[in-house]
Amino acid sequence: MAANPYRDDPDDRYDTIVIGAGQAGPGVAAKLAADGDRVVLIEGERFGGTCLNTGCRPTKAMRASARAAHVARSSEALGVRSAEVTVDFPVVMSRIRGLLDGWRSGALTYYEGLDGLAYVHGRARLDGGDHEQGYRVVVEGEHGSQVLVAPRVVLNTGARSVPPRLEGLDGVPWLDHRSVLELDSLPASLVVLGGSYIGLEFAQIFARLGSTVTVVEPSARIIGREDAEVSEAVQAMLVDEGIDVRVGAAPQRVDAADGGVTVTLASGDVVSGAALLVAAGRRPNTDGLGLDTVGAEVDDHGYVVIDDVFASTAAGIYAVGDVNGHGAFTHTSYQDHEILIDHLRGGRRSLAGRRTTYALFTDPPLGRVGMSEHEATAAGHRVRTHTAPATGIALAALEGETTGLVKLVVDDDTDALLGVAAFCLHGDELASTFSAFLHTGATLRQMLEWLPIHPTVSEYVPTFVGGVVRSSDIGTGTGTGAGEGA
Ligand SMILES: Cc1cc2nc3c(=O)[nH]c(=O)nc-3n(C[C@H](O)[C@H](O)[C@H](O)COP(=O)(O)OP(=O)(O)OC[C@H]3O[C@@H](n4cnc5c(N)ncnc54)[C@H](O)[C@@H]3O)c2cc1C
Repeated sequence: MAANPYRDDPDDRYDTIVIGAGQAGPGVAAKLAADGDRVVLIEGERFGGTCLNTGCRPTKAMRASARAAHVARSSEALGVRSAEVTVDFPVVMSRIRGLLDGWRSGALTYYEGLDGLAYVHGRARLDGGDHEQGYRVVVEGEHGSQVLVAPRVVLNTGARSVPPRLEGLDGVPWLDHRSVLELDSLPASLVVLGGSYIGLEFAQIFARLGSTVTVVEPSARIIGREDAEVSEAVQAMLVDEGIDVRVGAAPQRVDAADGGVTVTLASGDVVSGAALLVAAGRRPNTDGLGLDTVGAEVDDHGYVVIDDVFASTAAGIYAVGDVNGHGAFTHTSYQDHEILIDHLRGGRRSLAGRRTTYALFTDPPLGRVGMSEHEATAAGHRVRTHTAPATGIALAALEGETTGLVKLVVDDDTDALLGVAAFCLHGDELASTFSAFLHTGATLRQMLEWLPIHPTVSEYVPTFVGGVVRSSDIGTGTGTGAGEGA
């Protein structure tokens, strides 16, 4: 391992201080160090941030176990009978912990070994200064506090879940996406507060692992950001798997009950579970970060205000990842780091025009790119749409997984594809395929004439596009009409 000249002398001036070792911070730190900067990377908790430790990766590993149980239970239709399917929850969880430990220690070893990069474990906050003289960053760690100074500070402090204001919640044990991963035994029943992306993933995972699951969603439908037909299709799938989905169900209070909790709804109904999972919103980690001491503004929701190249309102201070409010995903945070590095090296990349792209990792997943129909209409587009049931996808029929639908939204004036919702087998990959077309500005005609591989789900791109073209004038659009901001 290369000797690090700064590690023994942290009370020093650096060129760049990076706060937060999530999905963007380590890459920014490593690349700037490779460019010759003296860089310090500060992490208050576990290296790798939310995705690696308590977000995407552990949940997707849990989802793999849940899917295996589901497939084993439902394989009879494919002519495969298995004996009673049982889930060994401690094995499920220890497999996940093993994966995460390996990734985390591998990453830490790699980054700690980089020349010009110092890694400090502790909680950081800005404490005045400016771009000319250097910003002061106070780090509270196991060995007391230290002060670091640099003219450039990159914030990658992420976001955290916040519980709703709910009477009785303080008095009962409840889980969030962090503590749920610490469970050593499967709760016999689980109430999930929140019918959005995180709550629904956990709801299906726990139901498939063997818990009796109830989802409580105050809005009229789950995943309210999506078009109604999409959220209704996802809800139907969850209900079909035995999950009790309560929509329009405002929780009024929570009480401890024998062996668990009860949630009283505004309707007077009471739902109960051995455990309660709260998945009802996230907040950026900007409170306590000292942004006010340097003049870096936050918006009404606490996100750092940035321009198209992540510059905050304080010269030399940048914000990447969830903390800037321009994405709430690992891929957006990771791409933020690439764009920032390009900008700092004098390149021309920016956030402008980045399309929303994400997936809800139920099984099947809902892959999304660009605008939904209601977002497109709200943005002033005249739209036409095409919705196709997943039953028409040959691979889905071959695999016996025909749940879902695919919806395309097109600008009726320009013929530009505005957005896709792909709730079907490999819907995440299908949305990524459409995302590549949108990124390269492909016209509907080019999508129609594309040669895919059979049998795949993506082979239906031309078919789906065929459902939305007008035979008279396909291909006249620019293909870039999605155009919403990042
Ligand atoms: C349950 C769950 C499942 C998810 N699944 C997916 C998925 O499948 N796909 C996807 O794309 N996204 C998913 N996400 C979202 C994804 O995890 C986040 O968008 C992503 O991790 C954000 O990365 P980030 O770099 O912005 O911040 P983070 O990864 O949150 O990292 C921020 C880091 O900063 C540190 N920090 C904060 N404040 C300080 C401070 N003052 N001093 C020092 N360190 C500090 C934190 O400890 C943390 O390590 C999921 C999230 C959750 C909760």
